[in-house]
Amino acid sequence: MKRLSILGSTGSIGKNTLEVISRNPDTFKIVALTARNNISLLESQIAQFNPEVVAVFDGSEAERLRSKKLPVKILSGEEGVIEAATLENVDMVVSAIAGSAGLMPTLAAVKAGKTIALATKEALVMAGSIIMAEALKRGVKIIPIDSEHSAIFQCLNGRDIEEVKRIILTASGGAFLGKSASELESVTPEDALNHPNWDMGRKITIDSATLMNKGLEVIEAYWLFNIPVEKIDVVIHPQSIIHSMVEFIDGSILAQMSVPDMKGPISYALSYPHRTENVMPALNLTDVAKLTFEEPDHEKYPSLSLTYDALKRGGTMPCVLNSSNEAAVEAFLNKRISFTAITRVVSKTMAEHSVLKGETIEEVLSASIWARQKAEEIINETEN
Ligand code: NDP
Repeated sequence: MKRLSILGSTGSIGKNTLEVISRNPDTFKIVALTARNNISLLESQIAQFNPEVVAVFDGSEAERLRSKKLPVKILSGEEGVIEAATLENVDMVVSAIAGSAGLMPTLAAVKAGKTIALATKEALVMAGSIIMAEALKRGVKIIPIDSEHSAIFQCLNGRDIEEVKRIILTASGGAFLGKSASELESVTPEDALNHPNWDMGRKITIDSATLMNKGLEVIEAYWLFNIPVEKIDVVIHPQSIIHSMVEFIDGSILAQMSVPDMKGPISYALSYPHRTENVMPALNLTDVAKLTFEEPDHEKYPSLSLTYDALKRGGTMPCVLNSSNEAAVEAFLNKRISFTAITRVVSKTMAEHSVLKGETIEEVLSASIWARQKAEEIINETEN
């Protein structure tokens, strides 16, 4: 029986994870669940999964949950989430908090020696060198949940990275594939939240539409697979059937395919090194009929170039890219800036950053605070 703590259990990945677990009650036991403030959903998850501990980031919502006198220990604040991520009797932590809020709990779980099923790519983007060094030191396995990285992990199957010519991350192209650069100027948050293939949280859905999500995944792949940036390519594949590919030095390319359903990679990460049955609908290739591929348009979507640039410049720059993007995405969702302004805010913030080595978590956190403040200044100027 694997004992799990799920960080972000009320989100899209969290709910899919609980669905996989509910189909395999003899294999997994939920020890802890965490949320930011959605205590009504958390309450029903407590009733269904009977965890020992829950943590609610928002203190007043934690207090409201406590007043219900449920048979569960209720923690609060970031410290509470970190405690839920490091409980003695937990084997695996599912890291699925959206954005930079997932960094410290994920790092704490790694330091506590827990196996990580990783969805929160932002943690690796911000502090990849620190997290991977801690994982190496403690022999901690980080198993990807992101469908692209799960695909690469499955294709590599433990092979030496020296045998890899390149990895090819596939991208659906998001909500606006086929729109012209000028049409992108006037798209709304409602348009951008309407993803053609995947049902995800708001932040990652906007990141998919700007292709920033793919950029963040390039950085995630760099850290997870210890592969040079020059060997990471991106191709647009609108059907989202091939989740990514590995090209080996002998010219062979292995691809991993399934219907686009996050229960697949989640189930793989939870069960690794085994597989469980019946997690998602079968893929019928004759129904799909056609798989297509195209080059990403770097001019229309500058975020990809920004992320390659951030990775090459290294140190605190990827963290600055990530935190300024978070601020800009929030501003777009609140209708303060246009869709195309998101990447302009990120680019301008990066241009003003003096890169530090980012070797300590304090340096990373202060770069993140700096980036959010600088991005906010740029957003204010953009509004006026
Ligand atoms: P959602 O927005 O759907 O869910 C986010 C979860 O994090 C919720 O449980 C939310 O709680 C919690 N949360 C948000 N802010 C905080 C905070 N400050 N402290 C503690 N908990 C917090 O996001 P997704 O599930 O879509 O994405 C989660 C992560 O997984 C992201 O990093 C994303 O990039 C990655 N990912 C997602 C995929 C998907 O298909 N959704 C695919 C691949 C990767 P509450 O509900 O209370 O607000």
